[in-house]
Amino acid sequence: MTQPDPVTPVLTKRWLSPNSWRLETYERLEGYTAMRKALEATPEQVVTLIKNAGLRGRGGAGFPSGVKWSFMPPAGEDGRTAKPHYLVINADEGEPGTCKDIPLMMADPHSLIEGCVIAAYAMRSNHCFIYVRGEALHCIRRLNAAVREAEAKGYLGKDILGSGFDLTITVHAGAGAYICGEETALLDSLEGRRGQPRLKPPFPAAAGLYAAPTTVNNVETIATAPYIVNGGADWFRMMGSEKSPGPKIYSISGHVEKPGQYEAPLGTTLRQLLDMAGGMKDGVPLKFWTPGGSSTPMFTAEHLDTPLDFEGAAEAGSMLGTTAVMVFNETVSVPWAVMKWTQFYEHESCGKCTPCREGTYWLAQVLERMVEGNGTESDIDTLLDVCDNILGRSFCALGDGAVSPITSGIKYFRDEFLALCEKNRTREPALVGAQA
Ligand code: NAD
Ligand code: SF4
Repeated sequence: MTQPDPVTPVLTKRWLSPNSWRLETYERLEGYTAMRKALEATPEQVVTLIKNAGLRGRGGAGFPSGVKWSFMPPAGEDGRTAKPHYLVINADEGEPGTCKDIPLMMADPHSLIEGCVIAAYAMRSNHCFIYVRGEALHCIRRLNAAVREAEAKGYLGKDILGSGFDLTITVHAGAGAYICGEETALLDSLEGRRGQPRLKPPFPAAAGLYAAPTTVNNVETIATAPYIVNGGADWFRMMGSEKSPGPKIYSISGHVEKPGQYEAPLGTTLRQLLDMAGGMKDGVPLKFWTPGGSSTPMFTAEHLDTPLDFEGAAEAGSMLGTTAVMVFNETVSVPWAVMKWTQFYEHESCGKCTPCREGTYWLAQVLERMVEGNGTESDIDTLLDVCDNILGRSFCALGDGAVSPITSGIKYFRDEFLALCEKNRTREPALVGAQA
């Protein structure tokens, strides 16, 4: 699809305005106009609009948002629901390299709050929880201040703008566990229990928070809803690709001149993103990169022109994930980087299922042995064998994500793993660490 010019920024257009996080700034720049429109429509019309726009979840999986909203049970003839409905915002951004939701909430918290009102209205929910990772105290404070501002103006609370619709938003601090970004572990944590994934189905729309119908959505997904309500489905579909429409915030880190958040239509390539980020740092060539965090199989310089949307990333053998683009130059040892990611997964494995609990431990042991120079060639097969026993056999996506760096690292850079074993055979010191 031809990209209209200029298309973005949409989601980040207020970020550089002075006091962008204050209600008065937000209102001056079209804030809360979409909420007024949505409250004049029926909940069903709002759900249909989001479906027609083709919005897909921005938390990593890309599930169609309007379809997910439509899973919530309908109201009875009296307009009431059998059980309370909950909207839960997943703001537990924890995937390595991912840094888009916290900047969004810091720069423009009211876009999330306005999105929450629209989404909660569409799903007949009167209570929304925003679950923020506990380390982001500054973000929790900013969100709470924004919620108070919106309440004082009548944008939250009872009978919002005389519509008869009530909404309370509670900002909840997590406690820093990566697994609590998995939606059902997040719900357990919100209920006050140890955060561990639940068996699905039932999906949260059938039995979620307090066993009531619940929709869990990512921050960026919900913050996109007001723009769709104002701009319409056709406008939204002018950006991105046919199956992955809309704008996206790519977080770019590593060996680039200007790391940070860059908004671009879905389907933008790494070559284009590197242009936006000032190119490779000091001109040192690219070696490998992740399209969407460490849980997505790595890419190499061969993939500079891969369209970064859900289909493009998958067709090239990876996943779009959280669009956390981590860029590594030629000075970085792949086995070392893979070891560091694996140590992360070993530490964050919740322990509920054996393949992931035991497997991530073994993977870390083997990789550490190799990087320290004590590996053998058969360790490569051991790694792949353990990965095979985790992939598709774990209880949640953490296990699958843990094997991605290893299998893709060996696929593209097997020689580097072999070279470590060679050094052991000749008793030379092994390559340890990155010289970045
Ligand atoms: P998933 O595909 O299982 O589910 C995605 C969403 O769709 C969920 O809300 C789920 O409830 C819903 N869904 C899926 N099938 C459904 C059905 N049949 N009926 C009703 N609802 C259904 O993916 P997931 O395990 O939720 O997420 C995995 C992704 O999370 C990975 O791709 C990874 O990129 C991403 N991730 C993100 C972060 C972060 O910090 N944002 C951290 C770790 C992983
Ligand atoms: Fe826990 Fe890992 Fe199993 Fe997920 S895959 S349930 S994180 S042990």
